Amino acid sequence: MKRLGVIGWPVAHSRSPAMFKAAFAELDMDDWVYQRLPVAPELFEQTARALGVGGFVGANVTIPHKQAALALADSASEAARAIGAANTLSFGPQGTIEAENTDAPGLLGALALTGRSAEGMSALVLGAGGSARAAIWGLLHGGAREVSVWNRTPERASILAAELGARAVERPCPADLLVNCTSVGLQRSATEADALNQLHLSVDLLGEYAYVIDLVYRDGPTPLLEAARRAGASTVDGLEVLLAQGALSFERWTGRPAPLEAMRLGAGIGATDIDAT
Ligand code: NAP
Repeated sequence: MKRLGVIGWPVAHSRSPAMFKAAFAELDMDDWVYQRLPVAPELFEQTARALGVGGFVGANVTIPHKQAALALADSASEAARAIGAANTLSFGPQGTIEAENTDAPGLLGALALTGRSAEGMSALVLGAGGSARAAIWGLLHGGAREVSVWNRTPERASILAAELGARAVERPCPADLLVNCTSVGLQRSATEADALNQLHLSVDLLGEYAYVIDLVYRDGPTPLLEAARRAGASTVDGLEVLLAQGALSFERWTGRPAPLEAMRLGAGIGATDIDAT
């Protein structure tokens, strides 16, 4: 049996097990399994090492372990090192650990669903946490002309922008692409007005973005995506980013092309999650 999993704390909400299970079924990969691995932070390092020695092929890593995952790896890709975090661990035969970050190429893959690449684009990234780091690095690496970053706590935006070669801004500014890398929109009780206020966005400003990606995902569109669609933007749901990064992990571990449509259905991603106007 070839074993994969997703390590997080908590991890009960993860759609990755359903996504991978659907891929294995589609490709008749009966000897592969993918499981949830709830691991508290203080047990992360010893558990990750034990998985490798215990015969796991690889593991996805989610909140709050992505930085620790990079730190414990024996080797890491350029993306993982530059971003400072890993979401994909691959275990070698002697328990060696390779770290990769598929969040950044996943974002670019999801953007491609709109028919555009990052090449030559201006982008505004909202947030200065882990996913913002991956988004900024990915967009710059993908050829974006300029990446601006706004964050509720401005000092964090300044530090991140200086480190990665982006531009910190005091308030959200117009750009070709808007990427929400904050957790605003996760809470179902938040109204559209709440979400826009928290992100310092207005309906008029939303009309300035041709493309809007919200990394936050939940059942149905987030308030930001609903407002952006009405303002005329092509929008991409966070579930598409999840699918794209999961597909890259799948290909890395199995050496086979990811069956995207099966994975999409398995993760419960609807056809409406990309809205190219
Ligand atoms: P993180 O490192 O904890 O960063 C959270 C960011 O959100 C910070 O910049 C924080 O600002 C900001 N924030 C939180 N509450 C806010 C509020 N009320 N108003 C304005 N800003 C607020 O989290 P992360 O790992 O970057 O993840 C961010 C979101 O992306 C999460 O919802 C996560 O589930 C989602 N995500 C999705 C995918 C995907 O595949 N679709 C991948 C990764 C992450 P401060 O610095 O001021 O605290």
